[in-house]
Amino acid sequence: MWRYFCSMIFFLVIFVVLFCGLYFFPTKTVSLIGEKKKLNVVCTISMITDVVKALGQDHIIVTGLMGPGIDPHLYKAREGDVHKLADADLIFFNGLHLEGKMGDVLHAMNKKIVTKAVAEVIPATLLIEGDFRGTFDPHVWHDVSLWLLIVQEIQDVLIKHDPEHAADYLINAKNYKRHLQDLDNYIKEQIQRLKPEQRILVTAHDAFHYFGKAYGFTVVGLQGISTDAEISTNDIQKLADYIVEKKVQAIFLESSIPERNIQAVQKAVQARNWDVVIGPELFSDALGDEQSHAETYLKMVKHNVDAIVKTLHKE
Ligand SMILES: [Zn+2]
Repeated sequence: MWRYFCSMIFFLVIFVVLFCGLYFFPTKTVSLIGEKKKLNVVCTISMITDVVKALGQDHIIVTGLMGPGIDPHLYKAREGDVHKLADADLIFFNGLHLEGKMGDVLHAMNKKIVTKAVAEVIPATLLIEGDFRGTFDPHVWHDVSLWLLIVQEIQDVLIKHDPEHAADYLINAKNYKRHLQDLDNYIKEQIQRLKPEQRILVTAHDAFHYFGKAYGFTVVGLQGISTDAEISTNDIQKLADYIVEKKVQAIFLESSIPERNIQAVQKAVQARNWDVVIGPELFSDALGDEQSHAETYLKMVKHNVDAIVKTLHKE
């Protein structure tokens, strides 16, 4: 009888200890049982991947599909990508038809996976019309004030799907937005170094219209908004005429577009007895690698602005 009583007490003590443990140290006890699964987030372009990593940090697992130098207009989902997308809890992509060849894959995703076209949260009044009627230019990241709206959207989506870490997401987003604010001011300050007639940006494709609208540049691209279309000799001749007429000093390469197109323009300009310099590479549709010092969104935009101002600046 006494033995029975002792073992009862023993089990009671164990029960009380376990219960108190659960009550007072719930996270620790939960982690003993098995950590809550982290959100698995897949992003398309590297600018979005960068924001999601900065906001989510250790609380989420982030996979970016498109690395440095990848052209999102032409990118087709590989077999590995389809598996990554199918395993995701959340998918962030730009939308506005930027990922033109991936549209079908993204739209065919299982309904349980939340897919967010982040650029499509921007009010239509702030968007620039696209090459075709009823479409919009998708290159919104080149206007830092629009990118702020996207950071806000990513913050809200992360909080909605992982409310447990809401406080951290808010702090991270607040820091990131402060950096964006500083960057926006920096660009406006740097642009002042150029005379109004120097503010003409000629690039390989039409990626910089938002930059032009936000910071007061005339922007001309050899190719349209998508890199999908063919370039004709007529396009090259027309652009060469424009460069000579406006006495443009430099034209710029883009990291995700072959150099030969811009070289053809330079040749056509030289044939008209005007010399135009080929300026440094700009990062239009993808971040750079670490050597390029353009491996984050903030660094990429700063790189572009510095390259543009340095190249076009003449006393
Ligand atoms: Zn583009």
